[in-house]
Amino acid sequence: MITVLSGGTGTPKLIQGLMQVLPQEEITVIVNTAEDMWLPHGHLSPDIDSVMYTLAGIINEKTWYGIKNDTFKTHEYLVNSPKGEMLKIGDMDRETHVKRGELLKEGKNLTEATEIISKNMGIGATVLPMTNSEVATVIVTPAGNLNLHEYLIEHPTEEVKDIYFRGIETARPTAEAADALEKADKIIIGPSNPITSILPIISLNGIRIDNAKSVAVSPMIVGKPVSGPADKFMQAKGFLPDSRGVAEVYKWVINRLVIDERDIDFKAKRIQIKKTNTLMVSPDSKRALAKFILEI
Ligand code: GDP
Repeated sequence: MITVLSGGTGTPKLIQGLMQVLPQEEITVIVNTAEDMWLPHGHLSPDIDSVMYTLAGIINEKTWYGIKNDTFKTHEYLVNSPKGEMLKIGDMDRETHVKRGELLKEGKNLTEATEIISKNMGIGATVLPMTNSEVATVIVTPAGNLNLHEYLIEHPTEEVKDIYFRGIETARPTAEAADALEKADKIIIGPSNPITSILPIISLNGIRIDNAKSVAVSPMIVGKPVSGPADKFMQAKGFLPDSRGVAEVYKWVINRLVIDERDIDFKAKRIQIKKTNTLMVSPDSKRALAKFILEI
């Protein structure tokens, strides 16, 4: 069994590669939930949704959130109402939030709710939230403390002074996630944002990641993220905004790091660096990267 640690964009691309070379039943994904929040209509768990939509083959690959060919009738109506709506949520995507909210209000935990929703989508892989507790990413800026969505949508150019995870001290990994890490033949930390997607998972109290079994893929190529603000976030936490910084963030949990073939060579204590093409722009490049990682 392969256990993958994931956010909502870079790692789902790698999951598409893994799906080409492994049966879904052999894949377990532990997903970041530090971007989750309640919305008026239900419960948003953006990284879980992107992973589930990827595994179900319905992800919108233009945005890496939401469902392809979704409509936005409700959003368009709400945007023009006094209440407004910050996030651009599709009509079908909204139903996932409604369903999750109902299940949580009925007393199910996030792991149980995710299992029900992913089974309904016909997903063969196992999708596990990192924790059943609430954790929230706080971006500290001169404009105030923002949640990640407010920062990305309303204040994307604001200076980032710090980032922290509210609730992380008391959150525990779920028994299912702990078991998936223990039983895995290989643990893959996908090319996700090291600070806002992976750090919450590896910071959970009591999480055990055997670095002899784990390999990470850098989301940085020649000192730049392929998309999003990973460089800015890494600098805000005191790391170099490149693959050397990624090696530093993960130094307790990996002993192998895959970086892009265009990256400069560097050495990191106790970590073997492997090079290949990590830019996933086609089914072939996704499959090739997945195979490379599985063969390490
Ligand atoms: P989020 O939850 O939407 O922030 O998504 P993730 O954290 O899963 O992914 C964001 C990261 O994916 C960014 O830092 C990107 O650099 C990285 N990424 C996206 N596409 C690729 C790719 O093709 N190759 C690599 N190496 N990284 C990628």
